[in-house]
Amino acid sequence: METPDCGILYLVATPIGNLADLSFRALDVLRQADCIAAEDTRHSRPLLEHYGIATPLLPLHEHNEDRTAPRLVERLLRGETIALISDAGTPLISDPGFPLVRLARQQGIRVIPIPGACALVAAISASGLPTDRFSFEGFPPRTSSARKSMLQSLADDPRTLIFYESSHRTLDFLKDLAEVFPAQRPVAIARELTKLYETIVNSTAGEAAALVAAGPHMQKGEFVILIAGADPAQAPRDSLTDEQQRVLGFLLEECSVKTAASLCARITGARRELAYQAALQLKRENDAG
Ligand code: SAM
Repeated sequence: METPDCGILYLVATPIGNLADLSFRALDVLRQADCIAAEDTRHSRPLLEHYGIATPLLPLHEHNEDRTAPRLVERLLRGETIALISDAGTPLISDPGFPLVRLARQQGIRVIPIPGACALVAAISASGLPTDRFSFEGFPPRTSSARKSMLQSLADDPRTLIFYESSHRTLDFLKDLAEVFPAQRPVAIARELTKLYETIVNSTAGEAAALVAAGPHMQKGEFVILIAGADPAQAPRDSLTDEQQRVLGFLLEECSVKTAASLCARITGARRELAYQAALQLKRENDAG
């Protein structure tokens, strides 16, 4: 039930690079609100100045939102109109605002989204990967071991997987991806969307790290990484195919278990863990005579 006579909380999407990606409706709301709650007021000022918006700003970020949200809800209950924006894109999408929206809705306050730019939606729509089902995974864990186990848990998911990643971790993420996912799995990298150096490239789990490493500019800017889901027609195998086993056998004659497994995964598309287990087994059999 909405509370009559109270104000409205607007969630206003702002551009993710190109300042022109702000809707007419967003402009109206930002001009007419009693205040704008912004993730970083210094960051948002140039955008607001660009559009001649003089509405008072107040900060709402991850370090103060738990104590600021109740104060904003009080203002909304008194009848004020508040617009929430983040540094870029849609508020609450890997951005602050969840405690405020939850509390506002619990209090029966009307919450109105003003849709607009969102990096994940822009990226998947242009990626060439399936869009019928997808799973937005936000930012991956920062340590390689946590990242790999997260990737492992998603390797058989049939939905397109979407990640946000910062420029200085993108290469490490793609290296981990190559170790965990089948080498042939399609990957798309969307970089600097809506900006001057916008780049959207298609690759595979096995090749994407090399592609990013090769171009120095490919390690700069903002990234969305997309991975096609597992083919549901191919149930996850729990053993190597005969061909994969044959390739692994040759590789083991020349390399260590770890290298043979890694190369086998890259060459044949076998799951790396499966190749590793098979290589261990084969080595044991070979050693036993
Ligand atoms: N709320 C934003 C949205 O709606 O997309 C996301 C905010 S999140 C803190 C920032 C991350 O979004 C970046 O690290 C990057 O992964 C992604 N991102 C934002 N702008 C982007 C752009 N122009 N091109 C590619 N990725 C972008």
